[in-house]
Amino acid sequence: MAPIDTPDPELLAAARAAAARAHAPYSRFHVGAALRSASGRVHAGCNVENAAYPLTGCAERHAIAAGVLAEGADFAIADVLVVALDPAGALQPAPPCGGCRQQILEHGRHARVQFVDGDARWCAETIATLLPFGFRLD
Ligand SMILES: [Zn+2]
Repeated sequence: MAPIDTPDPELLAAARAAAARAHAPYSRFHVGAALRSASGRVHAGCNVENAAYPLTGCAERHAIAAGVLAEGADFAIADVLVVALDPAGALQPAPPCGGCRQQILEHGRHARVQFVDGDARWCAETIATLLPFGFRLD
């Protein structure tokens, strides 16, 4: 992973605000994601859990849905930032899951993704690095 000194402050604030609104009564793992589109707009999402666990949705995917809703079919992701907070509010490692990597790739072939890694460092990677053989229908 490529460590960075400082995460994007605008995206961090939006992701933290989204995480504060997460519906995570089962895992108590509150996740927020914020993305900046190619047009410069910021969209955010939080994880939404369900008692039927497979219906749970990730923060990244909900941020993407917000972007599509607000900007339409030409929506493109430039940057994404993910935060995960434990019940005490401490940052936890949260690289996007495989499904979210595929969703990010769909809307941002060159997107940069920022997250806390397993060593508690902020990192930034391109989606191509995180998902080198992502599926595409071109
Ligand atoms: Zn995910």
